[in-house]
Amino acid sequence: MSTLNIQSFESNPPVYKMFIDGQWVESVGGGTFESYNPATERAIGHLQLGTREDAVRAIHAARAAAEKFRETSPWERAELLKRIAAVIAKRQDELAFFLTMDQGKPYHSEAVFEIRNMVKTFEEASEQIKWLESAVIPVEDKNKRVISIRQPRGVYAIVTPWNFPFMIPTEYLSAGLAAGNTLVWVPAPTTSICAVKLAECLEEAGLPQGVVNLVTGRGDVVGDEIVSNSGTDAIGFTGSTATGKQIAIRGAGKPLLLELGGNGPTIVLKDADLELAARSIAGGCFDNAGQVCSSTERILADHRIYDELLDKLVAHAKKIRVGDPFHRDTTMGPLNNGQVVEKNRAHADDALAKGARLLTGGKPLKGLGSSLFFAPTVIADLTLDSLYHTEESFGPVAPVFPFETNEEALRIALDNRWGLVNSVFTTNLKDAVHFAEKLRAGVVNINDNSNYWEPHLPFGGASGKASGLGRIGGKYSIMEMSDLKTITLDLR
Ligand code: NAD
Repeated sequence: MSTLNIQSFESNPPVYKMFIDGQWVESVGGGTFESYNPATERAIGHLQLGTREDAVRAIHAARAAAEKFRETSPWERAELLKRIAAVIAKRQDELAFFLTMDQGKPYHSEAVFEIRNMVKTFEEASEQIKWLESAVIPVEDKNKRVISIRQPRGVYAIVTPWNFPFMIPTEYLSAGLAAGNTLVWVPAPTTSICAVKLAECLEEAGLPQGVVNLVTGRGDVVGDEIVSNSGTDAIGFTGSTATGKQIAIRGAGKPLLLELGGNGPTIVLKDADLELAARSIAGGCFDNAGQVCSSTERILADHRIYDELLDKLVAHAKKIRVGDPFHRDTTMGPLNNGQVVEKNRAHADDALAKGARLLTGGKPLKGLGSSLFFAPTVIADLTLDSLYHTEESFGPVAPVFPFETNEEALRIALDNRWGLVNSVFTTNLKDAVHFAEKLRAGVVNINDNSNYWEPHLPFGGASGKASGLGRIGGKYSIMEMSDLKTITLDLR
């Protein structure tokens, strides 16, 4: 456990700078904005309110560094990635402290694991880039030899959200650097202290000047500048579907990796192991207070096991210890910001107005020192016109919908605009395979919740849905973040 203490940050919030061209700098506009601890709603730091001019400065730095960095060998980049992993591992307690203070997730049950996953992801990228082979391609013309090679795309614009403020940037930075790109990165405003800490780790690991540049500030200002400016060559974005669409328009023509919203569903068939399903689904609903793109936000349950599943989910929800995210026994902290609280309150109110049955929770929790704590919620008898079905809630909620037959479950699942992660609980292998093949999602988990994930697995949305474009994870990110070049050799 870190020896840092929150009181010193709350009584005297430090000023954090941006990291551009290897230097810690202030915004040219001179403005700052506050970051607060969601568990107390007290300020914990002042961050630079970057301007478009700052973003352009960062783009120039990344461009100036790009030519030299693209010439580094995969082995040199692998060494850099290994050094970054080592610095993060050394600073893991401190980073977990900032993660809990800035984002709100429980230190012991979640924050430390996010930091461990960062270490793993940088280490894995350092391995992947060394063994990523491309092809010698057979051709009709016997006088030709054709090979393909992977090359850096150039300068990447990266924009990231607040729910995993270390891990999501790590996915882009590790793969982006492995592929030989330079990067300009705009993190979410509410968790920008984490971004500063990660940039400190990159600096400590000996990152060459200008290779990663951090610009803090408003997404619609500095984020917009880096995606739309012709000085960036490609875009990596994780965030909401609405912002993703905006970015796709503003960055039109650039290669895009878009990781957007999700809303399941998780389907529980009549022959599921209900102990397993309820325990696993509860994790999917309540981990990170439900603020995960792959969270279990919509549960379709066969009418024959419906009541039993509800009882079990309520029992799990009631076991959750909501409170101070630094306390050893706490298993759920506050939500990160007021917008998520309001959205979850609105989704519960909407469902109740449409006849749903609230079994527990459904509203913010009072008396915990912040207005951002929300009660673990289980709500049943939902209808398909409820916001729980049509929108992403991104909160600690288990909304349960009954169905009569497997065909109906599949129909409900398919008639939806989301397509990120689906889950199915069943003991019938044939049904498992049937659903896995029919569901329109980037990932289908059988007999585990929708949050099951490992950093090297391909992750992303299905085509034609609102959950994104491309695949992130391990070698798939490196391939997404590089250009495939075909080289033909004439032997005549
Ligand atoms: P958001 O879209 O509001 O913000 C994401 C980032 O975009 C922030 O850094 C924000 O400042 C920036 N931004 C906002 N407007 C912008 C603009 N006009 N141009 C450029 N950048 C802009 O999302 P959020 O609330 O931070 O994150 C939650 C969302 O992220 C959820 O929808 C969640 O499902 C999604 N998410 C998806 C994945 C995934 O892998 N698919 C992972 C995590 C989160």
